[in-house]
Amino acid sequence: MKPLSRTVPPSLTMELDRQARALLAAGRDVINLTAGQVDLPMPPAGKAAVRAALERDKTGYVPATGSPEVKAAVREKMGWQAGEILIGAGAKPLLHAALMCLLGPGEEALLPVPCYTSYPEMIRLTGAEAILVATGREIGWKLTRAALEAHVTDRTKVLLLNHPVNPTGAAYDRDTLREIVDFCLARDLYLVADEVYANFVYDGPFMSLYAFAEVRDRLILVNSASKTYAMAGLRLGYAVAPAPVAKAMGGYLSQAVGCPCSLSEQAAVAALRMDSAYEQDLRAAFKARRDLLRGLLKDLPGLDAGPGEGAFYLWLCVFGYEDDLSFCRKLLEQEGVALTPGSAFACPGYARLAYTKKEPQLREAAARLMRFIQKNYSSSSAVSS
Ligand code: PLP
Repeated sequence: MKPLSRTVPPSLTMELDRQARALLAAGRDVINLTAGQVDLPMPPAGKAAVRAALERDKTGYVPATGSPEVKAAVREKMGWQAGEILIGAGAKPLLHAALMCLLGPGEEALLPVPCYTSYPEMIRLTGAEAILVATGREIGWKLTRAALEAHVTDRTKVLLLNHPVNPTGAAYDRDTLREIVDFCLARDLYLVADEVYANFVYDGPFMSLYAFAEVRDRLILVNSASKTYAMAGLRLGYAVAPAPVAKAMGGYLSQAVGCPCSLSEQAAVAALRMDSAYEQDLRAAFKARRDLLRGLLKDLPGLDAGPGEGAFYLWLCVFGYEDDLSFCRKLLEQEGVALTPGSAFACPGYARLAYTKKEPQLREAAARLMRFIQKNYSSSSAVSS
């Protein structure tokens, strides 16, 4: 049998980003709206901390699950009182570590779709099976207890939930989270939660799963500095987990990853200890972009299909025009606008627009998108809203 790792395809989102970058490098005028990363600078305090750490030669290994001062800064900032804190090289290895420790061959994990492109492969690499639970436009792209009940079996061990959701921009409210928590407790499941977009909720306060104290001994909650502090390339994530799970994750991380980056740890400490002005400004900037784009796209009825409550994505409905892969390919070729097809998120028929560019480029991208649709599909009926 082939080793599982040899059958892992590269992340489709990174592949499309690569294609757009290649066109840019060849001199084409491309607006790349595929990359899910903040385009604004990281906090100056974080930059200064990296420089200072370098000057002090802080370039050695740090403990496998992070240095005590970083854990303390995370605990204080996040208000994670109960449970063990783990620091990792981004949210991704922490999520993978949690899944590796909680799942094995013959077991199942419930996975709401559309979902972050890496989740199905992360689950498959544990030897377990990802059971896809469809969310949909008519239910605001959110899980319901009924949908979960319809898919749970006695092999189910984990529910993997991302909130706010990449790619749809859905953000869960307290009542729906309550139902999900009750379901996990009733079925004795671990809840692996990815809240990397916690800072990007626009129409009300963010509701963390950590608020439900009764689930904390079954909750592995992951967040990171990548989006909150625009530090994606520095690779610094943090998680809280019940002690036995944290111990297992620590063993896995020490063998498979080593430790987080010593310089990035210092950047994170500085960022976590700031007041919240930077986070608020970032959120305000992205809210303004979301509002701008939704206004610009409103004349294409039905195109904007997501709730747009959080993260920094618009979820566009393209199946009324064409299949998502052809739509995105043609749009890139004809108009130089790069979107990510919904197929990358296990949801064909849609496309994800990352509003991770400044206002003039977003205006230009919206104009090109309208022109593209008028030129190619003016005779086809518009997508129903
Ligand atoms: N989780 C989700 C839902 C994401 O969208 C991303 C990146 O786009 C990640 C995790 C990766 O986060 P990190 O850079 O902290 O590994």
